[in-house]
Amino acid sequence: MEEPPLLEREPETNIFGESMAVFHAAADLIGLAPRVRLELEQPDYEHIFYVTAQLQDRLVPLRGEAAAAYERLPPSVIPNRAAITPLFNGKLILRPEALRSGSIHIQDGVIRLGDQGLYRIEPGEFARFKAYRVQHNQARGPYKGGLRFHKAVSLDLFNALAAEMTWKTAIADVPFGGAKGGIRMDPREHSKEELESISLRYMYRLKQLVGPNVDIPAPDVGTNPQVMAWLLRQYSDGERERHNHRGVVTGKDVRIGGSEGRAKATGQGLAYCVEEWYAQRGLTPAGARFIVQGFGNVGSAAAEILCKMGARCVAVQDADGAVYDPNGIDVGALITHVHANPQNLRRSVAGYGGAQPIAPDDFWSVDADICIPAALGDAVTGDVAERLEVKLVAEGANRPTTTEGDKVLAERGISVIPDIIGNAGGVTVSYYEWIQNKRMEHWTEGEVNARLERAIKSNYRLICDIAEDRPRRSADHDSTGFVLGKRLPMRLAAMVLALKRIEAHYMLEGFSQ
Ligand code: NAD
Repeated sequence: MEEPPLLEREPETNIFGESMAVFHAAADLIGLAPRVRLELEQPDYEHIFYVTAQLQDRLVPLRGEAAAAYERLPPSVIPNRAAITPLFNGKLILRPEALRSGSIHIQDGVIRLGDQGLYRIEPGEFARFKAYRVQHNQARGPYKGGLRFHKAVSLDLFNALAAEMTWKTAIADVPFGGAKGGIRMDPREHSKEELESISLRYMYRLKQLVGPNVDIPAPDVGTNPQVMAWLLRQYSDGERERHNHRGVVTGKDVRIGGSEGRAKATGQGLAYCVEEWYAQRGLTPAGARFIVQGFGNVGSAAAEILCKMGARCVAVQDADGAVYDPNGIDVGALITHVHANPQNLRRSVAGYGGAQPIAPDDFWSVDADICIPAALGDAVTGDVAERLEVKLVAEGANRPTTTEGDKVLAERGISVIPDIIGNAGGVTVSYYEWIQNKRMEHWTEGEVNARLERAIKSNYRLICDIAEDRPRRSADHDSTGFVLGKRLPMRLAAMVLALKRIEAHYMLEGFSQ
């Protein structure tokens, strides 16, 4: 039998197994009922499917010997520049209207674009992408979790991330379960039209499996409110009572039923946790210096909000570079450079003139107070944890710290705000969006943030109480049912809170046969 192409094969990793270590440790500690452990140990459903799409024509740079034959090819003049979109990898998307005006010279499918050089026209093909949706658990409510469009995704990774959503929704105390999914591809290699067509096809396949009361996707790495809008349309077009389906995805643009504050909610929630960490030490984040890895949705919002709290961003690293300024980077200007600059095809901090470029690896040893990993998983390895010069690691990304990294952080006395509370602001405001959609309401940003602050800080305090073995009860706080009679690391304490809340559903409702 023919081997499946490399991109479609599942890599042999065991991220899910590793990620469940904390689950098992917490389950042992609280004596989780054996049947509940079995229910939570594996996802409810693992969906793998394929989506196909028609790609557009591309212009691929032609260099070296192959180019020599076209030395005499005159340059073409294409007045309609909007019909050509540059991609980060040097290729260009070529729309048919580009060739309908101007002065065009094509020889054997090769074209010279002014001073940009020679390109071979690659006819648009049909492409197939591997797609996933893992639904981990729904004991507390509909499945809920983001969609990731990225090259390095796998069933193993989505199993880990979906389980993490189950813990996170329980910790945030929102009435959802856990799910995660996405497509194996790099969205930067595609035009807007192609992304729309791939997203629509994904929802076409997924429609049977999701719904506002069944499973509710949201943005994650490589997806955004625009992708959510396409998914909403594909799900709801032609349905009776279309407006009732608005809550099928969260993270929508506010003009089409998204919530105020959702775009920044994950960073906002992380900043509230950091603020609470300082408050518990009788301090505020004002004057604190932080470094942030990943300057996408989460990293840039967290940086902006922490700066508003008076903190100073001294270094930023992303997939393509790192910048440093001990006096503080102008985060607003860096956001403009990364997110509002059409020339910056990689959407990277690299090339930002307002700070000093540094080697990406040197980022980890920058002297600061807080490190915010807000990119992908496994960034803070044992080696990185040895080099960090900070007091606090506030996790914006999902699973940014490896087991070894965790051990080293603990040995070095560096505090951790674990991801399942640190980045729970996103799913908390997704819940507010879902309620607003159901009630046909629109809350102000102030209202959203006030609720978010209350929710995140109160759940964070519960986790701190569990970690420090501090049972406390007041009118609006009660940790007495969660503390275990001994001190625990924060990550384990967070998992204890999640499992106790999930277990209650199984213990009180029992099991259908
Ligand atoms: P994004 O796609 O907007 O940004 C990702 C950032 O990470 C980019 O700046 C990219 O350059 C950087 N990056 C990618 N690979 C890297 C590498 N190898 N080294 C350094 N930097 C790298 O994604 P996002 O939505 O900001 O999500 C970031 C993290 O936060 C992810 O782990 C995601 O699962 C998690 N998260 C996101 C949300 C949300 O609401 N968006 C909610 C909870 C958790």
